[in-house]
Amino acid sequence: MTTETAAAAVQATVYGYPRQGRNRELKRAVEGYWKGRVTARALRETARDLRRAGWAQLAGASLTEVATGDFSYYDHVLDTTVMVGAIPARHRAAVSADALDGYFAMARGTQDVAPLEMTKWFDTNYHYLVPELGPDTVFTADSTKQVAELTEALSGGHSARPVLVGPVTYLLLAKPAPGVAADFEPITLLDRLLPVYAKVLADLRAAGAEWVQLDEPALVQDRTPAELGVEALTYRVLGGLTERPKLLVASYFDRLGEALPVLAKAPVEGLAMDFTGAAAANLRELAAAGGLPGKRLVAGIVDGRNIWINDLQKSLTTLGTLLGLAARVDVAASCSLLHVPLDADVERDIDPQIRRWLAFARQKTTEITTLARGLAQGAGSITAELAANRADLASRAASPIAHDPAVRARTGAITDADGRRAQPYARRAVAQRAHLGLPLLPTTTIGSFPQTDELRVARADLRSGRIGTAGYEERIEAEVREVIAFQEKAGIDVLVHGEPERNDMVQYFAEQLTGYLATRHGWVQSYGTRYVRPPVLAGDVSRPDPMTVRWTTYAQARTAKPVKGMLTGPVTMLAWSFVRDDQPLAETARQVGLALRDEVNDLEAAGTSVIQVDEPALRETLPLRAADHSGYLAWATGAFRLTTSGVRPDTQIHTHMCYAEFGDIVGAIEDLDADVISLEAARSHMRVAGELAAAGYPREVGPGVWDIHSPRVPSAREAAALLREGLGAVPAERLWVNPDCGLKTRGWSETRASLENLVAAAREVRDELSAS
Ligand code: GLN
Ligand code: ZN
Repeated sequence: MTTETAAAAVQATVYGYPRQGRNRELKRAVEGYWKGRVTARALRETARDLRRAGWAQLAGASLTEVATGDFSYYDHVLDTTVMVGAIPARHRAAVSADALDGYFAMARGTQDVAPLEMTKWFDTNYHYLVPELGPDTVFTADSTKQVAELTEALSGGHSARPVLVGPVTYLLLAKPAPGVAADFEPITLLDRLLPVYAKVLADLRAAGAEWVQLDEPALVQDRTPAELGVEALTYRVLGGLTERPKLLVASYFDRLGEALPVLAKAPVEGLAMDFTGAAAANLRELAAAGGLPGKRLVAGIVDGRNIWINDLQKSLTTLGTLLGLAARVDVAASCSLLHVPLDADVERDIDPQIRRWLAFARQKTTEITTLARGLAQGAGSITAELAANRADLASRAASPIAHDPAVRARTGAITDADGRRAQPYARRAVAQRAHLGLPLLPTTTIGSFPQTDELRVARADLRSGRIGTAGYEERIEAEVREVIAFQEKAGIDVLVHGEPERNDMVQYFAEQLTGYLATRHGWVQSYGTRYVRPPVLAGDVSRPDPMTVRWTTYAQARTAKPVKGMLTGPVTMLAWSFVRDDQPLAETARQVGLALRDEVNDLEAAGTSVIQVDEPALRETLPLRAADHSGYLAWATGAFRLTTSGVRPDTQIHTHMCYAEFGDIVGAIEDLDADVISLEAARSHMRVAGELAAAGYPREVGPGVWDIHSPRVPSAREAAALLREGLGAVPAERLWVNPDCGLKTRGWSETRASLENLVAAAREVRDELSAS
């Protein structure tokens, strides 16, 4: 094909679209179903309406090819597990009794059966359910969902492309099932899995799919030669099938690197590549590899993970270069638009001038179709769009929001000493022990207590003006009193105020820091029916007033036990926001670190002896390629220490992270120089405690003994058993007892029961220790 005919064929497409609906209708329907208020049929109808509305929106913006199969009631990796029939043994009865209830049982667990483990999807804040595989796994194809959604889109008159998690990524994301040897490698199941994919592909072909997209984001990570061999084999096999649609292998989140030549040679018809951010190197690597002669290239040129408008002129130039490198070039977002909110236009609280800098899923769709038109018909066909885009970019670059001289002066004056505590950990630990006087195996929680309907009503009442600030604060105070009273009664050692005043751990601070913008409807799926509203970090950051001191001191005045101050750390403040893309992240992190340091110091001055700085995002923000790790970890740990190093040696700094994958950051955890760390461990049977111990971690650790992602109440026996396992790795003097994470998504009844069981477990194990 010549360049002109290639240009004429340009398509505008996406790999996925927000699932939840304009008003999070999906969340309401699914949660209603769980509570028995919504029937299965009504849930299915809501889901179908949402899919239709999404496709209609895309088609309305002149997108030429929509994605199908990206919809999910809970998680697309769990959907893949269903598609390949890898239902864990413990869930099989529930799934065969009722597919939908069984599906939710795998996601959330039941009182009797544990759910699948959950972890972050690459370096995003989306969580997927980890497939559990073993040597006995038998795969069977179930293409029902994929075929039904394709049929729906086709009958709606859309040109549609089913999107599936690719087989290599699926296996690489899987874990050995419980009871299977830990060194079992799911990738060894490839030859059993491929026939199942072949069947699904054939079914989709029969249902009318011309193309099917296989998502292989795992290929942008560092891969061994053996894994690259698996990749080559997979696509040789799938490409060699006769009854199949055309295959588009999609990569995103980083550059393909060594995987690129392998895919370029594979007998598949198309490749999707990311050309934004760190993945921009793909352009050079693709040219060096000689392009993709004869293949379709889908160019992810609009950032699918951030919310700033695209530089259309720059993108058009890149696309023009790509046109010479493949038989056909299509325009897309860099990844599924699942990771951005739906529509910036509805953000009426944001200054219209600033709103022009923002592009959510809907606006990105327009950018994609505009670029596709510009590529197909020449820049002359989008002159007006290019001019408007230039003006918007210029107004952002010149905005005073982005340049606060006072903030610049302060970050410029930071010294090494600002990021170092006055005494080393070993001496601090002694001072803290004397100061706090805690028992062995101290019990605590991670911060939040249940966000009750009353609290939500109070917030809504405040927003609508039904109550004033004073009325709102009274309700929050009442909640704090109840949370303190419960913890006192339950016998917890280090108390929290419960965070009732916080809608969200990042947004709450963002609303009080200069430089952040809040959105009203900017919801993004975190996991299942849980959505977050990441704030927009648009300018230079500072803290005009204390943010949490009032609540912590209110709580402390009601108990003689220590109340833990509670802040979100600088790395997480960045990771769970949409960050500015006009300066290095390290610089933004220093600004946030200084603002939070002011808060930490004020808490200490107000009498707080234990301060937790949550960094659940430290690990997930780790760049996907090992070569980029050390640069990231240096600024990330530096910003944390900047936040926490201004306090006295006897003030105990805690940190918290919500996951169990630590292998590659143990060194960084040590570099944080926090005194105590709490972690998620219940679902992974305390494995993490062993990993930290094996790495020689010398500080105090609280591996969670209650999986708070499910409504299940752990018994005291169970928690005690986990604690004993923990003691196998961490000496009693350094072991804390706590849940995996905050309790805001839990109800009060399971919270009460579980925490009482936790305290009982701690007492039981303490007694054993003093007896022995
Ligand atoms: N302190 C927060 C809470 O308890 C921590 C939440 C988190 O780690 N995600 O809610
Ligand atoms: Zn957590």
